[in-house]
Amino acid sequence: MFLLAGLARPSGIAAGLIAVRPRLFQNDLDVQLALDEFSASVPQVAQVLGSRRFPTDLAHVRVSWGHAARYGTEGALLIGDAAHAVTPAGGQGANMAIADARVVAEIALSHESQLVQEYERRRRPANARSMRLSLGATIGAAMPDWILAPLIPTAFRILNRWPKLFARGLRFTSTAFLDSPVE
Ligand SMILES: Cc1cc2nc3c(=O)[nH]c(=O)nc-3n(C[C@H](O)[C@H](O)[C@H](O)COP(=O)(O)OP(=O)(O)OC[C@H]3O[C@@H](n4cnc5c(N)ncnc54)[C@H](O)[C@@H]3O)c2cc1C
Repeated sequence: MFLLAGLARPSGIAAGLIAVRPRLFQNDLDVQLALDEFSASVPQVAQVLGSRRFPTDLAHVRVSWGHAARYGTEGALLIGDAAHAVTPAGGQGANMAIADARVVAEIALSHESQLVQEYERRRRPANARSMRLSLGATIGAAMPDWILAPLIPTAFRILNRWPKLFARGLRFTSTAFLDSPVE
C-alpha cells in the first residue's frame, strides 16, 4: 500500500483511491493491517480514512489492462477502454478515449473509405505510448518491498530536486495520448 489520492466533490462528498499491491488481497486481514500501518505512518491518510475499514467500507477494484489486436472490422470499431483498457497510472484512459473519438469523427467526416484502418493507423502508436505508463506501474507494483519501499520516496525526492525532469514527465503524461505528442 503506497498511495492514497482523494478528490473533493460538491455537496460534502469525496472520492478516494488507494493503490494496493494485488498479493495483499490474499487475506482481508492483511489489507486492514496494511491500512492501519499506512494510517499510523501518514497522519493525512488517517484523516481521510477516518473509521472506514476493509472490506466493509471500501470497494476492491481489480485493474486489468491490455491492447486489442485490432481496432475493428467492417461495420464495427472499438474506441476507448474497449480497444485499450489501461490502469489509472498517468491518467491516460479518458484522454485516450476522447482522442480516439475525435479521430474517428475526423476520418468519418473526410469520407475515408478505409475508416477502421485509417483510425488504427493514426491512433495505435499514441495509445501504445500511453500504455507504457501502465506497463511501468505494473512492473513497479510487482517489485519486492525491499526495492519498492525506498524507490518511491527516492523518485519523488529526485523529481523535487530536478524540476526539469518533473516537467518532462508531466509533459509526457499530459500529451502521450495525442497523435503527435509535444516533445
Ligand atoms: C480508478 C480509476 C482512475 C482513473 N483515473 C483516470 C484519470 O485520472 N484520467 C484519465 O484520463 N483516465 C482515468 N481512468 C481511466 C478512465 O476512467 C477510462 O479509461 C475511461 O473512462 C474509458 O472511457 P470509455 O468511454 O472507453 O469506457 P467507460 O467509461 O467504461 O464507458 C463505457 C460505458 O458503457 C457502458 N456499458 C457497458 N456495457 C454496456 C452494454 N452492454 N450496454 C450499454 N452500455 C454498456 C458502461 O456502463 C459505461 O458507462 C481511471 C480509471 C480508473 C478505474
